[in-house]
Amino acid sequence: MSKNKTKVLILGGGTGGVIVANLLGRKAKKQAEVTLISNQENVFYEADLPYRVFDKKSLDSQFKPVRKVVNKRVTVLNEEVISLDVENQSVSLKSGASIPYDYLVIATGAHYDYDAVPGFKESAYHFYNEEGIIELRKALNDFVENGKDGKVRNVVVGIADLPFKCPVAPLEGAFMMEHFLRRKKIRKTTNLHYLSPIGGAFSIEQANVHIEKKFKKKNINLHTFFNTETIHTDRKIIESLEGDEIEYDLLLMVPPHRGQDYLNGTPIIDESGWVNVNIKTLQNEDYPNIFAIGDAANLPVSKAGSSAHYQAIATAHNLIDVVKGKFDISQVKERYDGHATCLVMTSLTSAMFFDFNYNRAPFGLGYISNRLFYYFKKYQRFLYFYGFLSGRM
Ligand SMILES: Cc1cc2nc3c(=O)[nH]c(=O)nc-3n(C[C@H](O)[C@H](O)[C@H](O)COP(=O)(O)OP(=O)(O)OC[C@H]3O[C@@H](n4cnc5c(N)ncnc54)[C@H](O)[C@@H]3O)c2cc1C
Repeated sequence: MSKNKTKVLILGGGTGGVIVANLLGRKAKKQAEVTLISNQENVFYEADLPYRVFDKKSLDSQFKPVRKVVNKRVTVLNEEVISLDVENQSVSLKSGASIPYDYLVIATGAHYDYDAVPGFKESAYHFYNEEGIIELRKALNDFVENGKDGKVRNVVVGIADLPFKCPVAPLEGAFMMEHFLRRKKIRKTTNLHYLSPIGGAFSIEQANVHIEKKFKKKNINLHTFFNTETIHTDRKIIESLEGDEIEYDLLLMVPPHRGQDYLNGTPIIDESGWVNVNIKTLQNEDYPNIFAIGDAANLPVSKAGSSAHYQAIATAHNLIDVVKGKFDISQVKERYDGHATCLVMTSLTSAMFFDFNYNRAPFGLGYISNRLFYYFKKYQRFLYFYGFLSGRM
């Protein structure tokens, strides 16, 4: 380790952390000593997980070792961070080591708190990680087999709590489920319900109009202002805070999300554990040497890989300029404009494309559901591993 170099520490080897590490490793190699700490050996591609429910292929192509996708000048530690000391500028690891930093980038994402909604663990299936998909594939298989008896049944797609990763993922789940049930010839005997905690199916009004039009066309029953309170496994009923009840035979639900535990007790988080940052500089206002990006950050934008990607580029460029002495940490630029993009599956063979930022709604052509966007979504994984993660795109 060099004594003269500025110590930049990146926590989290997912989308955001890897991009920051690669940019700093390439562009500030003389000035910065870059370390990335991640508790997983692999970086996991999540954007097509809803689609993967409906095929039977192995999920091995969803991940690659962090060390293989990170610039060789970056030191990668496969360790778990257990606490952060913002005053003394260091993090403690489960192994007992303590790592100091001059600048810190928090990119440790979110964790699923399955216990936050009573009944979730016992009753709900989800596609938010590998284990969830494997269990859901089995449950779906059973549902199709049982469906051959011609009895009417309910499939419910819902959201346990806000905020959650990728606001379009449950919409995709509902659209693809609809197509899947048709393919399996049990759509006519299946009522499909979608529970939304807000006033529409999607939060951006201009896009919501198009989503809700599709819901009507595909006979997906939308229930707005449905904030899940309890899932009664014994009666197979979901109860909302607003007092509504819906019966289910198969329940797909986005798990409750929270910030990571090691941040608890630090002065930089909100009540759900998300790191407070300026929405354009991504810098904590009380501790300006700390940045947070991606799912870990408390930002008024979708928790999504695309937003983590743009935030990582903005943060890396600010840090590169700071370590090169172009400006002081108190003068970092407002480089993030809220940019996010989403390819939204609208059936098993079509998709829409939303591209938006803090001031601009998705553009019109993106609302046209088509096969081309579907192919982009299907093959985006390659672009992710061989393009986006490098920070060059
Ligand atoms: C089903 C689903 C569908 C999605 N669809 C899309 C989509 O279509 N488009 C899109 O843009 N996004 C989508 N996303 C969201 C996207 O995958 C995430 O928003 C993105 O990965 C966030 O990146 P991140 O770097 O913030 O966090 P992550 O990629 O989650 O990385 C966090 C890293 O931090 C590590 N970590 C956590 N805690 C610790 C600790 N204590 N110590 C050390 N390391 C730690 C984790 O192991 C992980 O490696 C989807 C997500 C899901 C689940």
